[in-house]
Amino acid sequence: MTAAAHSGPQGLDDDLVPPLNALQAMAESSRCLYCYEPACVSACPTGIDIPGFIHRIADGNVVGAAKTILSANIMGGTCSRVCPTEVLCEQACVRNSGEQHPVAIGRLQRFATDRMLANGGSHPFARAADSGKRVAVVGAGPAGLSCAHRLSLLGHRVDIFEAKPKPGGLNEYGLAAYKMTGDFAQREVAFILALGGIVLHHGKRLGETIHLDALSRDYDAVFLAVGLSLPRAVGLEGDDLEGVIEALSFIEKVRQGNRATVGGRVVVIGGGNTAVDAAIQAHCLGAGEVVMAYRRGIAQMGATAWEQQLARISGVAIKPWLAPKRFRGSGGKVTSVLFERTQLVDGHLTGTGVDVELPADLVLTAVGQELRDEDLAGLAVQAGRVRIDADYRTERTGVFAGGDCVKSGLDLTVQAVEDGKRAVLAIDRFIRE
Ligand code: SF4
Repeated sequence: MTAAAHSGPQGLDDDLVPPLNALQAMAESSRCLYCYEPACVSACPTGIDIPGFIHRIADGNVVGAAKTILSANIMGGTCSRVCPTEVLCEQACVRNSGEQHPVAIGRLQRFATDRMLANGGSHPFARAADSGKRVAVVGAGPAGLSCAHRLSLLGHRVDIFEAKPKPGGLNEYGLAAYKMTGDFAQREVAFILALGGIVLHHGKRLGETIHLDALSRDYDAVFLAVGLSLPRAVGLEGDDLEGVIEALSFIEKVRQGNRATVGGRVVVIGGGNTAVDAAIQAHCLGAGEVVMAYRRGIAQMGATAWEQQLARISGVAIKPWLAPKRFRGSGGKVTSVLFERTQLVDGHLTGTGVDVELPADLVLTAVGQELRDEDLAGLAVQAGRVRIDADYRTERTGVFAGGDCVKSGLDLTVQAVEDGKRAVLAIDRFIRE
């Protein structure tokens, strides 16, 4: 999957990378060399048997291919759409040397998993006999759903408590519409729940309507997958002006159907994927000019090179080395953002004293998310995340955590899925003991 393969989404609901048809999938699968020690598998955080599933596609066994993928990563459909494959499996593919063009692993994965979800037939997995154990999972995002699915496979009964009206976490609320078109996030959740043994409870926020003490008392174990749900405030003069909003809430509104036209000039503050998603969507909604301003250099941006290229070809201007100083407005409404040009001195980010003012009718801030100050009594927080050990155990006996609320590896959906999966090993051992 390369940015050169398309010109960026023209409309909000355009599929960024259209799915392969059966002929294309067959042809692409024939490019795999079925390496004996496949570097692509080592580069996949969930360790999917990539040559194995590609071989099954080549054999015409698409259901078998999907089962291979979903056995390692139950959210293989989401990951085939949102994984930065260009820095993971596809970067490692040996086809890069020689042909300079990796096997399109992500698109093949999507081909197989889409077929499975569209199938409507029997669920490919079966639960073990009921263990009589119950586990509470807090958060219905990728980590929580992955954990719940695997616990249920082992015969445990799971209650998932979710604060939002819909499950899916960032898949449903935090991704640009062009990356996850239609109702895919909800169809994938329905597929996971079809296994049985999992009950979803909405409107349940930790520290408000549910509490850790009660969950620990009522369940054999608790898995926290609460994510980082609080957008980090910019905390600058003028951030209360009308027209200064958090990029994540902008993306959420767009994903939930609020397609109000965006006119004029838009400034996005931040350099990660959320900033890119917000910038491109603002452009799709009619903004005349969209600028992404980032306080460090291009090389330090959280958005991958491919995401940056996608932003550029979608009409977004990226301006690095600009640190926001304050927002200016008129009549209570934002009119510009004042930045200071920055530079690196001995490895430290330093202001140059040179101010740059960018006119803005809308400012979208994407400077990261934080752990919500929830009911985390008894849990240690380190560098803004719940502290866990190598087995995903928190400080509190019987309480485990994974996904974005901990620091276990890359901050990616695929890592969250792997967290949920791996935590089950320790949870299962704990509750059976
Ligand atoms: Fe196939 Fe590339 Fe993986 Fe080798 S590295 S098994 S060619 S996808």
